[in-house]
Order: sequence, then structure tokens, then C-alpha cells
Amino acid sequence: MASHLSKTRSVAVIGGGPAGLMAAEVLIQAGVQVDLYESMPSTGRKFLVAGKGGLNLTHAEPREQFLSNYGDRRSQLEPILDRFGPDDLRNWVHRLGIETFVGTSQRVFPVGMKTAPILHAWLERLHKAGVNFHVRHKWLGWRRDGCLWFSAPEGDRYVSADATILAMGGGSWKRLGSTGEWVQILTECGITVASFKPSNCGFDVTWSKTFKNRYEGTPLKAVVLSFTDSKGHFIRKQGEFIVTLNGVEGSLIYALSAQLRDEIEAAGQAVIKLDMAPGWSKQRLIERLSQPRGSQSLANHLRKAVKIQGVKAGLLWEFTPKQNYEDPAYLAAMIKELPIPLLAPRPLDEAISSAGGVAFEELNEQLMVRSLPGVFCAGEMLDWEAPTGGYLITACMASGRVAAQGALAWLGPAWEGLQSG
Ligand SMILES: Cc1cc2nc3c(=O)[nH]c(=O)nc-3n(C[C@H](O)[C@H](O)[C@H](O)COP(=O)(O)OP(=O)(O)OC[C@H]3O[C@@H](n4cnc5c(N)ncnc54)[C@H](O)[C@@H]3O)c2cc1C
Repeated sequence: MASHLSKTRSVAVIGGGPAGLMAAEVLIQAGVQVDLYESMPSTGRKFLVAGKGGLNLTHAEPREQFLSNYGDRRSQLEPILDRFGPDDLRNWVHRLGIETFVGTSQRVFPVGMKTAPILHAWLERLHKAGVNFHVRHKWLGWRRDGCLWFSAPEGDRYVSADATILAMGGGSWKRLGSTGEWVQILTECGITVASFKPSNCGFDVTWSKTFKNRYEGTPLKAVVLSFTDSKGHFIRKQGEFIVTLNGVEGSLIYALSAQLRDEIEAAGQAVIKLDMAPGWSKQRLIERLSQPRGSQSLANHLRKAVKIQGVKAGLLWEFTPKQNYEDPAYLAAMIKELPIPLLAPRPLDEAISSAGGVAFEELNEQLMVRSLPGVFCAGEMLDWEAPTGGYLITACMASGRVAAQGALAWLGPAWEGLQSG
């Protein structure tokens, strides 16, 4: 809802991802002049790619469970998500004219699974509301007089704004625009920025040539992974993942990726245990594998007796010493708890998201940088991480709103009252 006040105050939003677009929406609804600057030729590129395999917008699980996914940063994100949580996000998408549904494991998707309809409807609404978009404008910092400095198609451009929202994303998938170059600018201003680390990433495993040639790209479905770190913390999760040329990736690996990455950093490697037959007890496996196999090959015996075949059999042979091939108790133990050593996270640029970013200690509860009054930060550029499952987009949008509401409060009481939903 546009205000009756004239647009005498201006806010610059830098970064046209979900966080920046959401900030722009809150600001324009309050009636301020909004200029959104984006380094790429178009906005929302990572948001669009997020919809490639099905856009997981948010999660429909109970609040406590939802918040637990933000780990160490839960206390900072909880008040932000309380102002715009999973239900608010779903209602917001519905108001764009797009329905949502709750899929397996309570994940929430838009009908059609894609980002494009949401992004198109959203951009149209923002254009109509009066947001000024400036694409191919890369922010380079501040001039001495406080003006924002951009590299634009016509050359350097300097603009002044009454408040600024920085929403330039994390450090993965650089080709989509989130290059993390802002880190140097903010660090030079004395702001603490935690180094980027890959999050929701794959991991390297040393596969034999035969194994990777045969099974690259093959999924392992309905398996259970467990992992105990060197401090004794234990995690166990069911799901699926994929064998890659270099190792493993996929939702089950991503769900554990923060703990696995931190363990590798601390101990040099992380050993996951894979249960390839979750419906079977070890005792039952031993009994079935102990039955005489006659003239059958061991591979056929495994397939018929305990349904281990294909990539699962490949994994078993990959990690079982030859001398144990005929030992039913050994094989059963390996089928239930196959140890797979993960050697390194895949590079940051390949990761779905990044950990690290602007330290929360640098910000007040409105997400304003304490040492840069009038400058606010939002989205993945803040120092938090969460597994895939819609937690990323929800917190990016929620923080975009809080930063914008903070900017309105900063502009003064006349503007603060004009925030609308
Ligand atoms: C393959 C993939 C799948 C994903 N799937 C999901 C999913 O299903 N669910 C989910 O919740 N999340 C998912 N994500 C993560 C999600 O897309 C991001 O967390 C989210 O887009 C981050 O939003 P943001 O606005 O903070 O940053 P971004 O979306 O990264 O946007 C930042 C913007 O700032 C611009 N920018 C950067 N530097 C400058 C500069 N100096 N000047 C001007 N502009 C600049 C960038 O070009 C970019 O457009 C996925 C990510 C990937 C890569």
C-alpha cells in the first residue's frame, strides 16, 4: 500500500536476490523512493537456479523443529523469523497468485516447483509499485563524502541515499552474481566478516577408478547415514544421496554438511557410516548371508539373500578387504555400518550456500551496522547457515524485511509507522 507522503526520502538496496527484493518491497510499500542496484544484467539469478530441481520455499514442520535448523545462530534469527516465518512466506507467495503445497518431509514448494512464475509476478509488482531498478550496477564502496560508488555501463556513478540495504548474497555459484567481493569493502571499513565456507556441499571421497566409472551419478535411496564427531556428537538421518566422480553429494549429505565440514577442518577427515539396509537387523543379514550359496556367485548370493546389488554392492566391495568376502558377520556389519571417509568439502563455488559473512555482533537487532549508521545488511551475506529445506530462502526474505523495517525506523517515526505486510 503506497503512502500519501511524498517520496522525499530515498533508500538504496544493493543486491537483487530474495533478500534485496523483499527489502525493496517493504520500503516501497511505505512510500519511500527505492533504488535497487544489481551487478548482473538481471535480478534473482540464484533464486531462479534454486528452482531448477524444485524450489523448496520453506518448511511446514513445527516452530521448534524449524528453528533448530539454524544451529548456533538460532538466537539471532529467531526474532527475525518470528516477524516473517514459514506461514507468512506461504501467504506472501499466495498473494502473488501462486499456490504452494507441502511435499514429502514437510517441505513446501510452489505449485509447478519453479521460481520463474514467482520472480516474474514479484518483479512486475515491484516495477508497478515504483521501485527503480538499476542493473549492471556493481557496488564498489563509498566515496569520501558518503556517496555510494557503482561501476555502471556509462562509467563510475555516485549516488546518495538516506539509508542503504546491503543484500549481496554469500560466496557460492559466483557466476550468478554473488561473488563475495563486498567482503573486502566491509573489512576495510573495520567490520568483522567471518570467512566463507561451503555449506550444503558435496565431499571428496577417493573412489577406485572402476567404482566411479560405473556408478558416477547413481543415487542411493532410502539409506541411513550416521556420524559421530570427535567431540562425541551423534547425528543419524534417513534420505538419499548421489555418488559423484569425486565423492558424494545430495540432500542427505547436505543435511549433515556443516558438521562434516567442521570435523574435517578439526580432524582432517570425517567418517560417515552408511546403513544400506535400514529395514534389516544385522542378525537377520547374518542368517541370510550364512545360507549356503552353492554354485551362485557372491554377487548373486548378496542380491538374492539380502537385496544388496548395483551401487550398494559396488560400495560394499569398495570398502571390504578381499579376505573378508566370505565372512557373513563382517559383510552384515559393513552393510549396516559401511564406513566412508570424507576427505574434504567440495569447493565453495560448487556449494548450494555459504557459511560465514557479516558477524551478528556488528549489527543491532534491526540489522543496522553499528559502526555505519543507516547501513543495513540482509540475506546470505550475514554469518549464518542452515541445511537445504527452505530454511535459506525463508531467512533471507525475513532478514530483508527486518532490515527494511529497520531502515524505515532509521528514517524517522513518520516512515516507521508505514511498514505494511
Ligand atoms: C543450485 C541452488 C539451489 C538452491 N535451492 C534452494 C532451495 O530450494 N531452497 C532454499 O531455501 N534455498 C536454495 N538455494 C539457496 C538460495 O538460493 C540462496 O540462499 C538465496 O538466493 C540467497 O539470497 P540473497 O538475496 O541473500 O542472495 P542472492 O540470491 O545471492 O542475491 C544477491 C544479489 O546481489 C548481487 N550482487 C552481489 N554483489 C554485488 C555488488 N557488488 N553490487 C551489486 N549487486 C551485487 C548478486 O548479483 C545477486 O543478484 C539454492 C541455491 C543454489 C545455488
